[in-house]
This record gives sequence, C-alpha cells and structure tokens, in this order.
Amino acid sequence: MAPKPRVRFAPSPTGELHVGNARTALFNWMFARHHGGYFILRIEDTDESRSALSYQVNLLNDLSWLGLDWDEGPQKKGSYGPYKQSERLDIYNEHLQKLIDADLVYPCYCTEEELEEERQALILSKRMPRYMGKCRNLTADERKQREIEGRKHSFRFKVQPQVIEFEDLIRGAMKFEGEAIGDFIIVRSNGMPSYNFAVVIDDQLMGITHVIRGEDHLSNTALQLMLYKAFGFVPPTFVHHSLILGKDRAKLGKRHGSVSVGEFRKQGILPEALINYLGLLGSSFTDGREVLSREEMIEGFVLERASKSGAIFDEEKLHWLNAIYIRNCKTEDLIERLKPFLEQAGYKTDAVDAKWLYEVIELVKTQLTTLAEIGSHIDIFFDDKYIMTAEAKEILKKDTACQVVKAFAEYLNTAAGNPQENYLAAIKYTKEKTGAKGKDLFMSIRAVLTGKVHGPELDKVFVILGNDTALKRLKPFTD
Ligand code: GLU
Repeated sequence: MAPKPRVRFAPSPTGELHVGNARTALFNWMFARHHGGYFILRIEDTDESRSALSYQVNLLNDLSWLGLDWDEGPQKKGSYGPYKQSERLDIYNEHLQKLIDADLVYPCYCTEEELEEERQALILSKRMPRYMGKCRNLTADERKQREIEGRKHSFRFKVQPQVIEFEDLIRGAMKFEGEAIGDFIIVRSNGMPSYNFAVVIDDQLMGITHVIRGEDHLSNTALQLMLYKAFGFVPPTFVHHSLILGKDRAKLGKRHGSVSVGEFRKQGILPEALINYLGLLGSSFTDGREVLSREEMIEGFVLERASKSGAIFDEEKLHWLNAIYIRNCKTEDLIERLKPFLEQAGYKTDAVDAKWLYEVIELVKTQLTTLAEIGSHIDIFFDDKYIMTAEAKEILKKDTACQVVKAFAEYLNTAAGNPQENYLAAIKYTKEKTGAKGKDLFMSIRAVLTGKVHGPELDKVFVILGNDTALKRLKPFTD
C-alpha cells in the first residue's frame, strides 16, 4: 500500500491571509483528506523584519474559521516539530555545516550596494541579472581581510552548470537552465536561513510527499532541487497550481477590491461559501456542479485536473454562492452567526424576544447576499430604525395610495382577529372599498408599513409587525 501523503501549507506571517494562499491551503487540505493523508501547517517566519505575531494569530484564526483543520502544526501535536521555522534554527545550522563540509557553499561578503551595482550593470548590458560569483573564489587571506574590515557574510550555494528537470503534476515536464541561475543565498548575513534553504530541509525532515503551491514558486523549485541533490535527499512530487487573477487578468491584488480572508469574513461571507468558491476556481471538479459540500469537494477533488491557466476571481459569483448558503443555513444557526453583525449595526439582540427574532430572520434570510447586510433588511421591524424612504414617500403622494392607506387603517382599527386574518380581511376590505388592486394596492401598503418599496412578502411582514405597530405607522397618513 502506498504511504499516506503528507502535504503542507507553509505561510509566511507577513500579512493577512490572501484568498490565493487560502486556495493553496484548500488544495493541500482537500488532497490530504481525499487520500486519507496528513495536512501540516508550518509557519515560515524567518524574515524577521516582515513577520509579525499578529499576522500569525490571524492566520491561524482564518484557517480555523475556514474549517481547514491541520493534523500537525502550531497548537497541535506532531512528531516532526517544531512547526515554526524560527524555532528550527539549530536544524538549519546543522545542515549548513554539512554543505560547508562538502565545499558546496561559500561566504559572500558583498554589501547590498555592491549587489545592486552588479545588478544594474548586468541589466544595462542586457544580461540576466544574477550573482556572478564575486566571492566564490576568495582565498583564505582575502576572506580574513574582509572579516577584519568587519564585513558580515552570508552563505551562498555554488550553482553548477546543469539542466534542472522535474515533472509537475499539473504542468508536466519542466526544465530550467542552471546557467541562468546565480549562486544563491542560503543563509543571510544575520544568520537566518533563506526561504529556499529552510523549505527544503523542512519538507524533507517533515516527510512531505507532495509540495502543492502557486506557480509563482516555479523558479524556486529549480533552486530547491539543487539543494535536494546537494543533501542527497529524494525530492517530493511538485505541483504548481495557477494563481487567482483579477478581471483584468493581473494577479489578484488590493486594487481589485477585497483580497484577504479577513475582509470577506467581515463582509459576512460564510466560510462554507468561500471554501466552495475557492474550490471551484480553476475547477478541479468535472461534473459541472457548483454548490458542493465539504465532503463532496473532498470526494471529487483531483489535483491533476486543476487548470494550468489563471483563474479569474468573480466576486459576484462568490456573493451568489453566499446567498445560497445563507438561505440554506438553519435559522437558529444563522442567528448565532448574525449576532456580531447585528450588534455592529446597532441592534441589541438580547433585548428582543427570541421567537420574534427567529420569525424576522426566517423571513429576511432569503434576501441576504452577505451577513453584513442584515441591518438594512430588518430595520423595517424596529420602530427606532424604520424610516420613510424618498421612493416610498413618492408612492404615498398619489391619491389612490391615500385612499388605500385610509381604507386599510379603517378596517384594522376595528379588527379583532389574529394578524394573519386581519391582514387578509383588511386587504379584501380595501380592495372592495377603493377598487385598487395589484401594485396600486400592495405597493401603497408596503410603502406605509415598511417605508420602503422592496422587501419580503408583505403578509409575513404584517404578521411580524402586528396590528398595533401597523396602525401606528398608518396613523400619520390617515389624519
Ligand atoms: N512561505 C512561502 C510562501 O508563503 C511558502 C511557499 C511554499 O509553499 O513553498 O509563499
């Protein structure tokens, strides 16, 4: 039996979790779950100047919120830890020593300025900018001299002329010319490992079988394969999926609108909807279905089927899916999820009758696209939030509307049934008395009762409002 796959999501905590990275996490997670393997979370925080603990905290929260549970990693046990690179520095040092001993690396004393100068000169002469190996062949004395001058050094890997080839599970055969790659840094002058160095050691020591990541890492894979060879490690299978693009086909970024999981969460996108949407993007499912549960996504996931070309992010489609998930959400559950949004919109959910709130949410949930919209849908049920919109005022200016409103109020003033019966009887009475029907009838009543010209089914709105509130709202128009 083939060993169970071990995959990892390895974010750098240098910003909020981008939907593109969330999609990488999702692909890894689905792959692990589909094959009964392991999904590992590793925090790549060796760039001290850009990493922040707050980003790491948000990252873990966002992943948990999305339901992408990891089997090993921070907050979990696991035999391959620590799962945070900043806690693995000894391991990287040991491995550096192996490469030093094998004479595969050398100290580089070049300063940022010198490197930049070299880069510019290469660009000017229309050559590929890369490190040309200035420090590669320094003598022991020359090195000592630089040490005496107080220069700090990084360590660079000696790139040999070679062709690097590998088989990508999505992209097929890949080939890179070693010629074009300069000796690259594996340990920076501050002693921290570079991404390419640490990632190889970690993927190896953590037993990673498949590296699934965005195609922006393709050229890194070439460098990483050189390190695999230098250490005598067997490389994992590499899989580079396409990136998410904006409608202009440029890489999805802030200028396209919301891009982080946190932003969508704040908008009131449900995690199920976001996961479903990200899973569909660059479609990894063949049967054309678009609304898929987590289980269905796991079952139908085939990594090789992921599209090679970039996937366009369509926020409207995400909203469409979100509306479906909201509609299908159990009302009790939806109320819990809505609470923070209700609070934010100034609604005190504890102060209202739970059963009444249930009726309200049950009625408006079919109209919601995001949870954050809730305030503008339930305001009609709260006297302190109800306002007469300009459109409603316009409708109520008409003569027929005045007659309708008066007749409706007239009936209600003497009505004695339950709200459902009263509404139906009041409508019948008004119709007979004024001759109004259709839009003239219902729009006028809607306008006066809700202050709006659109909203949920009017009879249901009336039942929730009740006779007294309805009469209170009708009164100013009947005097
Ligand atoms: N820390 C890298 C990133 O966030 C991980 C890339 C990889 O998966 O190897 O892009």
